[in-house]
Amino acid sequence: MKRLGKNHGGYHGETLDIRAVLHQVESAAQRHGWTAENFYEHGGFKWFALRRAPSRITNHESRIYISTGIHGDEPAGPLAALKLIEENRWPENAEIFLLPCLNPIGFTLNQRGNAGGIDLNRDYRSPKTAETRAHLAWLERQPPFDLYLCLHEDWESHGFYLYEQNPDNKISLAEKIIAAVREVCPVDESENIEGRAAHNGIIRPNISPPERPDWPEALYLISHKSRQGYTLEAPSYFPLATRVNALVASVNAAVNF
Ligand SMILES: [Zn+2]
Repeated sequence: MKRLGKNHGGYHGETLDIRAVLHQVESAAQRHGWTAENFYEHGGFKWFALRRAPSRITNHESRIYISTGIHGDEPAGPLAALKLIEENRWPENAEIFLLPCLNPIGFTLNQRGNAGGIDLNRDYRSPKTAETRAHLAWLERQPPFDLYLCLHEDWESHGFYLYEQNPDNKISLAEKIIAAVREVCPVDESENIEGRAAHNGIIRPNISPPERPDWPEALYLISHKSRQGYTLEAPSYFPLATRVNALVASVNAAVNF
């Protein structure tokens, strides 16, 4: 696998024309029967949530929440969202909620934070930013989710890894996700990732949300909307297409549970 070796002190890889990508996301979503809801507008951008109804009503529907693009220097997420919509391989009993870009202005600046440099993914407990407040207001209007997936990249990592939140010890999807990613992208085999114990690319952090002041989106979700979820981290060390494929493979493995 080719390594780019471009990331020193931050992400220096490919950037994204986020406006063009979001136009493609909107038109692909429309073609495949998704509905879109705008929940915030700023700087010429619309923040929107896409919803895809189950294609067949059964007595065991599942509601799945997928979000990405919260860090403006992680282009694989919005591109993976586009590819997932275009491929249209969803389980027929699933209702999917997909937020393809939570920080569009960050992408125009190729920076992690929003226009003011604030990391939105630390703003979900006592939100200071208008975009997080709008996202939380949207989330509060939604039903609970059976599963959440937050798509990210890590510019320091040399392999894919994930964080699992599964406080009720439901059947874990982590090994299944990692096995699917292995087909398309190297996995980070380190015993310690980002200061936490890891095994085969899986981190099961022992986090008590009430004790943490700066919630990422995932801690809000596990505290208020869902009892199982995964933060998926593609390695920016590898070409963009590899990272997109890793995120797409991980979502497909997770939603087809
Ligand atoms: Zn990220």
